[in-house]
Amino acid sequence: MEKNDIILTYGSDPVAMTRALLEAIDIESLIPDKNTSIALKPNLVVAVTADSGATTHPAIVKEILSHLREKGYSRIKIVESAWVGDSTKEGFRVNGYEAISKTFEVPLVDVKDDEYRKLTSNGITMEISKTILDTDFLINLPVLKGHCQTAMTCALKNMKGCLSDRSKRMFHTLGLHKPIAALNAIRCADLVIVDSLNGDLDFEEGGNPVETDRMFATRDSVLCDSFGAQLLGFELEDIPYIQLAEKMGVGSTDLTRARFIQLNEPANNNEARPSGEVAYLAKHTLPKNACSACYGNLIHALKRLDEVDRLGNLETQICIGQGYKGEADPNKIGVGVCTKGLGKSLTGCPPKAIDMIQFIKDL
Ligand code: SF4
Repeated sequence: MEKNDIILTYGSDPVAMTRALLEAIDIESLIPDKNTSIALKPNLVVAVTADSGATTHPAIVKEILSHLREKGYSRIKIVESAWVGDSTKEGFRVNGYEAISKTFEVPLVDVKDDEYRKLTSNGITMEISKTILDTDFLINLPVLKGHCQTAMTCALKNMKGCLSDRSKRMFHTLGLHKPIAALNAIRCADLVIVDSLNGDLDFEEGGNPVETDRMFATRDSVLCDSFGAQLLGFELEDIPYIQLAEKMGVGSTDLTRARFIQLNEPANNNEARPSGEVAYLAKHTLPKNACSACYGNLIHALKRLDEVDRLGNLETQICIGQGYKGEADPNKIGVGVCTKGLGKSLTGCPPKAIDMIQFIKDL
C-alpha cells in the first residue's frame, strides 16, 4: 500500500469490510518485523455504543486483532481516552472491550491512567501518552463524523485521545485547530482505517447516526481527512487543522494525486451531508474556548429545548468556555464553572445537559 492510496469498501458488514480492507492493505508489507509493537486507537470519546454514530464499531477492532494474530504479531495494545468528564473504562465496558481484551490477549490502556511525556511542536507543549509514543506502529480507527466546534472529526482529531486531560483542556484554550495539527506533527498514525458506516454527521457524541455504509483506509492522516471532508461536503477551509497539518509536514491534502482503490460498488450514492442543525443551534451560544464535552452538552440542551418550542423565547446568547474565566460582566449569562463571574451562571465542569435545560428554562 502506497502513501497516497485510499482503499475504499462499501457495505454494512464491518467484519467482511474490514477483512477486505486488510487483504488489500497487505499489513505484512507495512510491518515486516513480527516483534513490532502495535497500538490500535479507536474512538471511544463517550461511553456509548457504535450504533449511536459516535464510537468505532468493536467488530472492526476484533477483525483487525484476529488478522494481526493470524499473521503472528503479538505485541498489540488498545489505547484510548474519553473526553474530559467521561470515563474511558465505561466506554470499554459498554462496547465489549473487556471480552475482546481477553479473547485476543491484548491489554486495554486508558490514557487517563497512563504516564505522559511533555513534548513541544510548533510552539505548543503538550502531554502525550507514553504508551503511544513508545508504540512502533499506530493504527488509528476514527469514526468519520460531524463536530460542533471543528465541523468534522476523523483521523487527525482522533489523536486527541492520546493526550492527558490537562492537555485536552489546553487545546480548547488554543482554539483546537493549531494544536491538533501540532500533535499530529509529533505523532500521527501509520495506518488509518476509517469507520464511516453510520457516523453522526452533526455531533461528535452521536445520537443521530446516518448510514453511509463505507469504510476506507489510508496511510496519510491528512489525505484521510481531506477525503473525509469532501465526503461530508466541506471545503478544506471549513476545517483549518487539515491544511495546518499539511503545512507542518504531516501529509498531503492533494486528492488529485491520491490513488483510489475501490474494492466494490456502493449500493447507493452515499451523498449524506451534515444537516446544518448545529449551526442553527450555535446561534444561541457565545463560545470562547469551550471544551468539547461542555459545548456538546449545551448544543444538546438547546436541541431538546428547540424540540419543545422553547428556544424561540431565549433572548440572550449563552456564554460558555475557558475564555470567560475571570470575566465579571453582570449582563451576560453562562454555563460551566468558567463563567461563574457572569451575571447568571450554571456551575459544573462540565455541567450536565439536563441541568443546562432547566437553567435555560428558568431564565
Ligand atoms: S466549565 Fe470550563 S473547563 Fe469545565 S468543561 Fe466547561 S469549558 Fe471546560
